[in-house]
Amino acid sequence: MIFFVVFSVYDIYTYRCVFMHFYVITAFPVIFEGPLQETILKRAQEKELVQVDVINLRDFAEGRHKHLDDYPFGGGSGMVMIPEPIDKALKSLPVKKGEKKSRFVYMSPMGGPLDQKKLEELKELDNLVVLCGRYKGVDQRVLDSWIDEEISIGDYVLSGGEIPALVLIDGVSRLVAGVLGNSLSPGTDSFSSGLLGYPSYTRPADWNGKEVPEILLSGRHKDIAEWRLRKSEEKTESVRKDLFEKYLIEIEGKKNE
Ligand code: SAM
Repeated sequence: MIFFVVFSVYDIYTYRCVFMHFYVITAFPVIFEGPLQETILKRAQEKELVQVDVINLRDFAEGRHKHLDDYPFGGGSGMVMIPEPIDKALKSLPVKKGEKKSRFVYMSPMGGPLDQKKLEELKELDNLVVLCGRYKGVDQRVLDSWIDEEISIGDYVLSGGEIPALVLIDGVSRLVAGVLGNSLSPGTDSFSSGLLGYPSYTRPADWNGKEVPEILLSGRHKDIAEWRLRKSEEKTESVRKDLFEKYLIEIEGKKNE
């Protein structure tokens, strides 16, 4: 039997990135079960557009207690993840360090910021290995040996790298061609044009006396696009002055091209 897969023009254009393989190294694999088994991430895996292998660090730990952490040299509070189980787990992967279109990242508040541009960059990879820290973090020597990049999901500290890893996996996966029902939709979300998104409305047209803006019912697509752009600009200017200034500079640059 012959199967035909129907892709949009957008998918064909981005065809080379229709498959992304994540390898997550964690001491708490159960955290991934719920989020990976629901909605978009579940469907992405079922369609074999995305694969997520969750590797349990404890399988690589020694001794009766399978310990993963130890006291920090130099004193101070908190425990540090020991290098050996992490090294063994990374060595067990089919993807090798330095391999083309592969990257090894460590989720860390000390990393560079995760933003839409970074997600766009990462979706071009074939393999993304994601190390999740716990406690005070990971012994620096194993990071120096393996990690290409440290990535932070924001200027705050969480208890572990599992939720940041899920943020990364979700953000990258929805950009992989074919994952979203309408694969053009990431292009209208916040940040894709440098602005925040516009407000959305659905039925009923009148809800508790609050009506949908008339323009959205007009069927005049050009006017609707202009209204949405204006709303995006107003929202960005009001809550994200930093983004709005960048956007104005870009527009000015384009005018002078
Ligand atoms: N000692 C570290 C520091 O000062 O930056 C914080 C360690 S934190 C309590 C434990 C782990 O949670 C980290 O190793 C990292 O994997 C993860 N983590 C916490 N906050 C994060 C963030 N904002 N972005 C990415 N990962 C984070």
